Amino acid sequence: MRIIQYPHPTLRHVSKPLKRVDQELHAIVREMFDLMYAANGVGLAANQVDLPYRLFIINLKSDPAAKEEELVFINPVLTSRKGNAEAEEGCLSLPGLYADVKRPERAVLNAYDLAGQEVTIELDGLFSRAVQHEIDHLDGLLFIDRLSPTVEMDIKDSLIDFDVQFESARQRGEIPDDATIAARLAKLEKLRT
Ligand code: ZN
Repeated sequence: MRIIQYPHPTLRHVSKPLKRVDQELHAIVREMFDLMYAANGVGLAANQVDLPYRLFIINLKSDPAAKEEELVFINPVLTSRKGNAEAEEGCLSLPGLYADVKRPERAVLNAYDLAGQEVTIELDGLFSRAVQHEIDHLDGLLFIDRLSPTVEMDIKDSLIDFDVQFESARQRGEIPDDATIAARLAKLEKLRT
């Protein structure tokens, strides 16, 4: 398992809800936390590790010792979005790129945890922003899709750099073609969603 980078097509995949949580999924989540900590991230969605599952993890402290901060959300749904807030965001799939993103300030999250319990959480502050960023991933959206036109212009060259790097990785044979990636996602989806 590894964190994939923009413009990998799995980052544009819209994930379907999971039907069951099994031991293998627990192991996947553990590996996702390890990858997230190694990259100093506070959140990671399943499609960022090339998996088509409607699941994301969060640890706002990005601290492996802070186990009580580890959160897993499965099949998340956001409701009651309120207010407006702007803050800088980054993404482990776009390393080194940061930009201001406007989002609703507050929202209510409904989801299942890894034990299969339904949870309802009122979101605010960084927690709210992180959850909205991760749910976007599950819908195939990235924070660069939510920028103002001027900020979009500012980061245009960085995105071209990511494109160039992706293409050369593909030419080196490190990334399969689009059809192979789509077939793998469809196969995984069939098993769990
Ligand atoms: Zn992200």
